[in-house]
Amino acid sequence: MKSFLVDQEGYYGEFGGAYVPEILHKCVEELQQTYLGVLESDEFKKEFEQLLHDYVGRPSPLYFSNRLSTRYGCKLYLKREDLNHTGAHKINNTIGQILLAKRMGKKRIIAETGAGQHGVATATVCALMDLECIVYMGKTDVERQHVNVEKMKMLGATVMPVTSGNMTLKDATNEAIRDWCCHPSDTYYVIGSTVGPHPYPDMVARLQSVISEEIRKQLQEKEGRDYPDYLIACVGGGSNAAGTIYHYIDDERVKLILAEAGGKGIDTGLTAATIKLGKTGIIHGSRTFVMQDEDGQIEEPYSISAGLDYPGIGPIHANLAAQKRATVLSVDDDEAIDAAFELTQLEGIIPALESAHALGVLKKIKFQPEDVVVLTVSGRGDKDIDTYLSELKNRREK
Ligand SMILES: *Cc1c(COP(=O)(O)O)cnc(C)c1O
Repeated sequence: MKSFLVDQEGYYGEFGGAYVPEILHKCVEELQQTYLGVLESDEFKKEFEQLLHDYVGRPSPLYFSNRLSTRYGCKLYLKREDLNHTGAHKINNTIGQILLAKRMGKKRIIAETGAGQHGVATATVCALMDLECIVYMGKTDVERQHVNVEKMKMLGATVMPVTSGNMTLKDATNEAIRDWCCHPSDTYYVIGSTVGPHPYPDMVARLQSVISEEIRKQLQEKEGRDYPDYLIACVGGGSNAAGTIYHYIDDERVKLILAEAGGKGIDTGLTAATIKLGKTGIIHGSRTFVMQDEDGQIEEPYSISAGLDYPGIGPIHANLAAQKRATVLSVDDDEAIDAAFELTQLEGIIPALESAHALGVLKKIKFQPEDVVVLTVSGRGDKDIDTYLSELKNRREK
């Protein structure tokens, strides 16, 4: 049977693989040979599950949203990753990878971060596990995301501002890879999404798959069947979406809806709609869709949400889209903001701007009243309050 999970060579259809510089071959190969054995060992599972339960606060609730269900004419459940420690799904992955790093005898943890959410999650777990932590972050982002920078420092991490390129996420990732090349023996590189060379996309998807594992149990209890008709999630690199769909990826009864960031509109040049606009290329060690110009130069993406403006996309999702297993919808800045205000007013939940893109697709789908829909709220909106307030102000002045 055809599967949408990773194959033996680290590919999803024609996407994925491990395109890394010679000097990193050994590190990547070491990781490829180690990760599955560790992730599937009883001893790892026990420690991982205990931390997810006691430290992160899992299982996260599957909350039936009465008022949004009425509005959109379906049975809508929200998977509440916003209630996790540090405010998003990212901590699931960081805990898992750092437990792996410890088992591989690595003493030094490095990470890249854009908005700072993955950096904060990594610094948090390094504090917990008493490990050295270095976070690469574009200088532009350091200035834009001041609070997260201070949090990382308070947690004991070193934040390295990156001044190459546009000084954003892509450049921070390049710098982290460069660091890894210089310290291959003692350093572990924690990637924050389902991107990068194999085995990262598969490893991150597996660590986030706790989300769909819980959805299965929770739906069985609430609906008397363990699968939904629709799963909806936003995609930046694709980790919360991969976690949401993992156990259903080959189950054709379940429709998969991915929301990518349309920015100001997909034909405005100010967008992060990578799946719609990208062409096949290689970015950060993986063959996938990349936003690039005719010469293959990477184009800078734009979205109001800092967590969604990555110029690539996880190879898992590139394949799901290419094979038409998933439906990809783009949600513009304005639509996301509207959706965030709607959730806030109807349910008293302020979502992260990224998650608001997932909510933004509800208006674009025609549901049947009996459809069971599960939408992942990947994070909470505390970090986005300034954006929400200035949007409110703009709208009042209009
Ligand atoms: C980082 C982030 C995302 C985007 O990353 P994915 O890997 O696509 O999940 C989405 N939501 C929140 C709250 C984030 O912090």
